Amino acid sequence: MARQELRGEVREFLAQKPLRMFIGGKWVASADEATFQTFDPGSGAALAAVAEGKAADVHRAVQAAKKAFQQSGWAAMPPRERAGLLHRLADLVQQNQEVLTQLESLDVGKPLAQASGFDIPHVAQTLRWYADLAAGTPLKKPLAAPGCKAYQLNKPYGATAFILPWNFPLLLLGWNLAPSLAAGNTAVIKPAEDTPLTTLYFCKLVEQAGLPGGVVNVVPGYGHTAGAALAAHPEIKHMGFTGSPEVGRKIAAQCGKNLVPVKLELGGKGAAVIFPDTNVEETAEKLLGALTLNTGQVCCTATRWLIHEDIWNEFVGTAKKKLQSLRIGHGLDPLTQMGPAVSEKQRQRILGYIEKGGRQGAEALLPGGRAELAEYPKGFYVKPALLAGGPENICAKDEIFGPVAYLMKFRTEDEAVQIVNGIHYGLANSVWTKDADRSTRMAEAMVAGNSWINGHNLFYHGVPYAGCNLSGFGGGVLGPDTYFDYLRPQSIVVPG
Ligand code: NAD
Repeated sequence: MARQELRGEVREFLAQKPLRMFIGGKWVASADEATFQTFDPGSGAALAAVAEGKAADVHRAVQAAKKAFQQSGWAAMPPRERAGLLHRLADLVQQNQEVLTQLESLDVGKPLAQASGFDIPHVAQTLRWYADLAAGTPLKKPLAAPGCKAYQLNKPYGATAFILPWNFPLLLLGWNLAPSLAAGNTAVIKPAEDTPLTTLYFCKLVEQAGLPGGVVNVVPGYGHTAGAALAAHPEIKHMGFTGSPEVGRKIAAQCGKNLVPVKLELGGKGAAVIFPDTNVEETAEKLLGALTLNTGQVCCTATRWLIHEDIWNEFVGTAKKKLQSLRIGHGLDPLTQMGPAVSEKQRQRILGYIEKGGRQGAEALLPGGRAELAEYPKGFYVKPALLAGGPENICAKDEIFGPVAYLMKFRTEDEAVQIVNGIHYGLANSVWTKDADRSTRMAEAMVAGNSWINGHNLFYHGVPYAGCNLSGFGGGVLGPDTYFDYLRPQSIVVPG
């Protein structure tokens, strides 16, 4: 199928050899001049060589962020003025929407329509939302305390750090960075090694928007080197990590050592509970959309489907039929509905889980597996899978992070709640029914940061998106309180 032509700006950006990192407002090589490759998962071809940051580069970036916090005027700027610059940055994200869409699609493998309809616009919206919140929120409030005059100031922390995953590189950068910057902090970002491109392009826009040098710094590199050095750096004042629970534990341990507040946005194993009064056709369509979004590499998506026994056959039949006509292809092909997995490693993880689930007795309603595309023999494609069985199967419990749904039958509400809550994750679940009382009961009984009713993957600015248990802690993103997570209280007291 025809792939969209790359825009001139994208070709020019990728032609830089190598792509440099952004520290203190300057584009610089890594201290040891090392580079790594980033790949197009749709074709397996190398896209660009990127400067590979290590501890020395992280140190330079943290020093730049610290200096910008202390000397650039960013932290002391009235919030309304800072908000103006963030709006300018949001304008530039919008103006560069097509370039960012192509880069994100190329680097992650996601279909163009997903990047242009969700990822990129959400970044601009998030910058605007926190800019406006900051501009309209006084940072000083009087305190009512007997026997004294007192007030509270809310102050930014200083240099904040972000370590981010590969599934929504720019979207998650926007969700995390916007509240921190709006509060007057500066930042050092380590994007995932698989997908550094849009984060680096974003820095060009940061430059153009006129944010002072050192307010935003990006050090691409590997987790065990650049990531570990950033998490351990003693001059980082606040840490945000989005990724797997395994790495989240290491980050939290490091933050514990340094006594630095940390936000952890970790994995999930979302359930969708489907009652017989639901519209089968519509619900199946929406859940398949959620399952195949970003090739299932979505932390909160619905990968456990609890289907009421009365509609089991009808629901399974409808879902199978729809999935069989799914168009798998390169992200840059406008007709593609599901792109490749992000890497061969991720494809192997997905295939490995399907195999392990089968060995533990899961029934393959739709077997999934490797997808071979004649045009792209080296792409990392997979077919979606529908597996069925009891709640003890490994595929009912572990996060697979691919287009694999595990289907379970249930009869009563209590039974459904028990299955939903019977795992360690707590990110997001949904309930599908026309009965308003039942949907509220179920939504409130499910233990997770998010309960959605007759929809899945629902994100709104002003509604916190957070996890609990193995899915993380620290208040999440998108909420109004998230802004205050990036401010520390300081009380001023005068006796009498
Ligand atoms: P990952 O944990 O392997 O990597 C995430 C980031 O951590 C990467 O930048 C990586 O380089 C870095 N890293 C790896 N080892 C490190 C170390 N020792 N020290 C410091 N940094 C290190 O996760 P991933 O495979 O990139 O992403 C998938 C995971 O992210 C899934 O579990 C998914 O559910 C989760 N996720 C969660 C959310 C959320 O909002 N809750 C959103 C997106 C993804």
